Amino acid sequence: MELLKERILKDGKSFDGGILKVDSFINHQMDPVLMKNIANEFVKRFSDLNINKIITIEASGIAPAILVGLALELPVVFVKKTKPKTMEGFYTTQVYSFTKDKTYDVCVSNQYLNEGDNVIFIDDFLANGNAALGVKDLVKQAGANLSGMGFIIEKSFQEGRDRLLDKGIRVESLVRIEWLGENSIEFVE
Ligand code: 5GP
Repeated sequence: MELLKERILKDGKSFDGGILKVDSFINHQMDPVLMKNIANEFVKRFSDLNINKIITIEASGIAPAILVGLALELPVVFVKKTKPKTMEGFYTTQVYSFTKDKTYDVCVSNQYLNEGDNVIFIDDFLANGNAALGVKDLVKQAGANLSGMGFIIEKSFQEGRDRLLDKGIRVESLVRIEWLGENSIEFVE
């Protein structure tokens, strides 16, 4: 997605160790016009699917996911990173966070993810695929079907994409990054 590549080159900040900061338009301050374009691109790429729900994980997946939900007029469920005291029936799994270097329990209510649901997962980044595989596990526990996963930015030098493809998951990444160094960003051609 050219618009997104241009924005990453203009406003993204890359660091040694393979971290990309996009805080000025995705992860902290958000650009709703760019987000709308991102959502439209996801809608186009998944237009062959007959899904009934979008699933994401808090916090940064929520903005793109809700705009996809708005475009398709479908509900959006976000996986929570802390279990609310009031939540009764839920599915839970563990996810290791690349950026925070810790493992945490994530959960989703069995009221909002059910057998018979056909979902796509939307998130901001695909790095090692831990968040995505955690969500895949929750979808499986619920007896629902996962039709595909869409990421705004894929860091193709990390193992996430291959881990998801190995499990037979369809992956749609709007931008794929080949390499990130101090102030240098290379995209997959
Ligand atoms: P994974 O679970 O695929 O290893 O990592 C995905 C999650 O880690 C994303 O949801 C995102 O929040 C975070 N993440 C991974 N790499 C980066 C990065 O380079 N920049 C930012 N901003 N977040 C990242």
